[in-house]
Amino acid sequence: MSDLYPAERLARAAEAAQAAGLAALLLTPGPELRYLTGYDAHLSERLTCLVVPAMSEPFLIVPRLEQPAAVASPASRMGLEITGWDETDDPYALLAGRLGLAGGGPRAVGVADRMWALMVLRLRDALPGTGQVLAGPVLTGMRVRKSAAEVDALRAAGAAIDRVHQRVPGWLRPGRTEREVAADISGAIVAEGHARTDFAIVASGPNAASPHHEPSDRMLAPGDAVVVDIGGTMPSGYCSDCTRTYAIGSPPPEFAAYYEVLARAQDAACAAVRPGVPAEAVDAAARDPITAAGYGRYFIHRTGHGIGLETHEDPYLVAGNSEPLAPGMAFSVEPGIYPGPHGARIEDIVVCTDGGCDRLNNVTRDLVVVEG
Ligand code: ZN
Ligand code: ZN
Repeated sequence: MSDLYPAERLARAAEAAQAAGLAALLLTPGPELRYLTGYDAHLSERLTCLVVPAMSEPFLIVPRLEQPAAVASPASRMGLEITGWDETDDPYALLAGRLGLAGGGPRAVGVADRMWALMVLRLRDALPGTGQVLAGPVLTGMRVRKSAAEVDALRAAGAAIDRVHQRVPGWLRPGRTEREVAADISGAIVAEGHARTDFAIVASGPNAASPHHEPSDRMLAPGDAVVVDIGGTMPSGYCSDCTRTYAIGSPPPEFAAYYEVLARAQDAACAAVRPGVPAEAVDAAARDPITAAGYGRYFIHRTGHGIGLETHEDPYLVAGNSEPLAPGMAFSVEPGIYPGPHGARIEDIVVCTDGGCDRLNNVTRDLVVVEG
């Protein structure tokens, strides 16, 4: 865990806060807090907050009843001061007093991107005259390039979700509902090593044309294409996300034609990944062959998203994002074609390496046809 959550990140976060002109970063439970400390903190109405001042030592404020969990986490092993507050204390006043921003000119703090409004507003009251901006962008430069230990954690997540996909054909039977298949998949995501299931999209027949379809009571039928997009969070905190499209019996002829186009486009996009290439060029590498084959208007989403402690984080592979790729960046490559009354998507998580692209999902991308 010390490789995955090195103590030096706290000092780098303080430097990043200072470079951004912020007095401190205030990080309630979420990916930023976990990234900096390894502490998978419980999010509730009781304030837990990692305070990273630009100019002084960081500290963690936790409800007294959660102090043992915080102390047991990697946070205490990195020498972070952990302060418990009691049920009758005002933790916001405690935080403000300890931070000591009184005096001086205009100032601002960075607040966690997903901090509850409840806490944002109470912090505003406790720190009068202090502006609030998002902390996420301050930390993106650190988080976007994964360390070797983070890539290992993502690789383990990719292998675990690949094992689930290998079992999916056994659950796709005519007469079973999407919801029943999704329940089997959710159990397997945990059985194959995740701490929890984050999503299990099973989109069959006409539902396959809806990229974020919620599993329904629709029964699978011969001739269906089934988009299965699944992911979970590993005990390490790192996420998986992988899509394969299956067919039950013989799919419609037009489906087979565009599935080939899609598979070639997904390959071309992976082949385009290397350091210095703008993120949007990978989107174009996926989109151009799909457009050339006449399916461009059916590819209705970006090509990919970064992944790490969150399933969706920077960098986003989308037209307009000219940010150059760099070694260590991890993201999905997931073009889709959804003409209706069927659709298809192929998704792998990949890592940009010094030499190009390392795919973390390796289960077959050929169309898997199960008996109808
Ligand atoms: Zn996905
Ligand atoms: Zn995805």
